[in-house]
Amino acid sequence: MARNMFRRSIYKTPAQLRLMREPGLATAAALEATRGALRAGITPLELDALAEAAIRDRGGRPNFMMEPGYRHTICANVNAHVVHAIPTDRPLRPGDIVAIDAGAEIGGWHGDSAYTVVVPDPADPKKTAALQELSRVTEQAMWHGIAQLARATHLNEVGDAIAKYVHSESNYGILEDYIGHGIGRSMHEDPPVFNYPVRGKGPEVRPGLVVAIEPIIAAGGIDTFTEDDGWTVTMEDGGASAQWEHTVAVHENGIWVLTASDGGAAGLAPLGITPTPIP
Ligand code: MG
Ligand code: MG
Repeated sequence: MARNMFRRSIYKTPAQLRLMREPGLATAAALEATRGALRAGITPLELDALAEAAIRDRGGRPNFMMEPGYRHTICANVNAHVVHAIPTDRPLRPGDIVAIDAGAEIGGWHGDSAYTVVVPDPADPKKTAALQELSRVTEQAMWHGIAQLARATHLNEVGDAIAKYVHSESNYGILEDYIGHGIGRSMHEDPPVFNYPVRGKGPEVRPGLVVAIEPIIAAGGIDTFTEDDGWTVTMEDGGASAQWEHTVAVHENGIWVLTASDGGAAGLAPLGITPTPIP
């Protein structure tokens, strides 16, 4: 019982940060495997199998399967489904907007990441372009949040930066029902990572902090409901949404995106941030 008497620190040691590299890279590999195969005609269940194989090839376990009652490696959020959607055997179609979310556990440490793509619809290029813009703004909101983490003294500056970017680029809404989180020995830990301004500064940003930054942006309203399957979350107004997520470590020499094979270098370069490998 003694171990429950002390709240686990949100700051990892340098040795613990090093242990988070492998699950981060396995998570990246799983998402890359799905992304390479994602096109009209493939089913979310087929993408799920590719992601699972990529994680197991690296000696990891899909951590979504550790959530009681969830049997898959990925969540595959198609169109009005926004998060936690169970992969189905419905083939993807032109004009679908698809967010794939996955995570890996290795040696008791976790990674978590997500991306969005649009299956192009040659018959409706305007719709395709509009959905691609929603995904672009969401991805860039994530990178602006990560760049802010590199400069911040307190964590809630990340949400300020995400919201400022979204509102400067669009009239999109930022979901408030789902936010980012600390990550380490479990997939979801303290502290919460808001995607919008909140009262209070949040915890100090200093070496050892590891967070999943994951804005979810909607083209219409931001209200959601959970389907009868107990998992799939759907937009109340049936509108489109996009989700991007990376797991990011703060260490003594800077930041490193654990779930990007380049540590986030390509995404952060335009924002003037150079990630540094964990020493
Ligand atoms: Mg995730
Ligand atoms: Mg997450």
